[in-house]
Amino acid sequence: MIKIADIIGHLESVAPPVYQEGYDNAGLIVGDAQKECTGVITCLDSTEAVIEEAIAKGCNLVVAHHPIVFKGLKRFTGKTYVERVVMSAIRNDIAIYAIHTNLDNVYAQGVNAEIANRLGLQNTRILAPKANMRQATVWVSATEADELKAAIQKAGEGAQSPDAAVRQLSVGARPEGGVSIQLEVTYPMHLSGAIKRAVASLSSAEAIYTSISNSNPLVGSGMVGELARPLQEMSFLKRLKEQLKVSCVKYTALRDQPIKTVALCGGAGGFLLKSAIAAGAQVFITADYKYHEFFDADGKIVIADVGHFESEQFTIDLLATIIREKFGNFAVHLTEVNTNPVNYL
Ligand SMILES: [Zn+2]
Repeated sequence: MIKIADIIGHLESVAPPVYQEGYDNAGLIVGDAQKECTGVITCLDSTEAVIEEAIAKGCNLVVAHHPIVFKGLKRFTGKTYVERVVMSAIRNDIAIYAIHTNLDNVYAQGVNAEIANRLGLQNTRILAPKANMRQATVWVSATEADELKAAIQKAGEGAQSPDAAVRQLSVGARPEGGVSIQLEVTYPMHLSGAIKRAVASLSSAEAIYTSISNSNPLVGSGMVGELARPLQEMSFLKRLKEQLKVSCVKYTALRDQPIKTVALCGGAGGFLLKSAIAAGAQVFITADYKYHEFFDADGKIVIADVGHFESEQFTIDLLATIIREKFGNFAVHLTEVNTNPVNYL
């Protein structure tokens, strides 16, 4: 039996929930994780039509990129689409799980890696890495030191790299006899719980935990990479339109400079423009630009706005791929509903 919690556990090993932004509401929004999962629908938006699709296909788990509920709901009268989706999901025993900015922020198998792959970018790296590394200074008896190192290594297994790094600082005598070893453990934030449990499981270990300012190159916003061969700006934009299957690309003044380095961010990524310029990108691909914000390109870069839904549409495939790689024969459907609220004439 595959539980809803099993699917969620696997998704969260790829995109740990601690990496979601403060304003976000990713996670299980409706439903009981302990129930058996009868099938999954992956989508960008868990709209009413998607819930109906789940019912029709006998799937009791909807895995969406965008959380249907962002802020507190006070009434359930069915007046808004958000209330109706939640009510319908509860009534029909369908769980809704959202994997949002945590999936945006991971390097491997994240929203931006998927876009970068489709564009054929090489040498990709996170555009704005986050400072979310942690450090523990641990004192442990010589007899338990190896056990601790093994437990720390195990904590990182199956998780997003980088793993925890252990460095021996000093060796000293213990007041109660024997030898004490001082270790410095540096690890990504999502391993905090596992590292603390590893330390607590050993009778001789004591630790002080601190946040450090080192950035984690594998967690953060946006992505940047290089094309195999430089392209003329217009050729690049035309190819972009095809590769991302978009009906409209809004772009700023061309600079008569070949495109080699490409920065991108699925969804509303305007806040990364400075990082894109600093990274030496000739083009920044994202969505949700407002009129006045386009001026910020200011001859330094070409901004290409491909639309929010369009920039993230491949996340629907990505989510199905992630689930299938662990649960091979399981019923995973990509939604057939087009949830893009924007039409083009
Ligand atoms: Zn989005």
